[in-house]
Amino acid sequence: MQLRVDLHVHSAASGDGCSTIEDIIAAARAKGLDGVAITDHDVQLSAQSAMEASARHSFIVIPGVEVSTDAGHLLVLLPRREFRRGLPFMEAVDQSASDGSAVVIPHPTDPISHGVGEPAVRSASPRRVALETLNASTLTRYNRSAARLAESLSLPRAGGSDAHLAKAVGDAWTDIDIGSDAPSPEAVSSAILMGRISPSGRRTSKLVSLETVLRRTVRKGSER
Ligand SMILES: [Zn+2]
Ligand SMILES: [Zn+2]
Repeated sequence: MQLRVDLHVHSAASGDGCSTIEDIIAAARAKGLDGVAITDHDVQLSAQSAMEASARHSFIVIPGVEVSTDAGHLLVLLPRREFRRGLPFMEAVDQSASDGSAVVIPHPTDPISHGVGEPAVRSASPRRVALETLNASTLTRYNRSAARLAESLSLPRAGGSDAHLAKAVGDAWTDIDIGSDAPSPEAVSSAILMGRISPSGRRTSKLVSLETVLRRTVRKGSER
């Protein structure tokens, strides 16, 4: 069975996110997705809240986190522990691996979005990491260089919107082959660990990107 899951979504729990989990699920469903991973910056949606939202909407909601490591960002899905900000990158990768959590290195070659960069990807490549080679919020040239890097290191490739606004959710996603497993966050996570994934979608439109920037700015301004 194939599932379409946006593996990289921010909610209002990220300081710069604007949407509720409810809005995110509605937007993802409208775009034909089967699930989303909520990956806020250094804040984890509890497994309990994810399960409740999942049951309320009959939709796959995967708790995750976008960890700010010392090298840059790292997506951890179904995290089994807290990750402190500034944790050494390889420590976060190794801890996730020993916990059995799937990891995706997002926007790896985009320095503006805190991509970890090529040397860090190379050092993590012997572990079971996937590379986000289609991020709907980054520049096409960074997606291209990420795809080249995944190709040269034979790493599985993932897609995600990196949406901070519900209307951008599902602009990019990951096609996930869960085989004969029943659809669940665990089935998605193990398919990622087995590399049974491929990215799909497009970049978020310029208009929605502009609206996101404006809303994020307003939100940050109102918190000062
Ligand atoms: Zn990021
Ligand atoms: Zn992000």
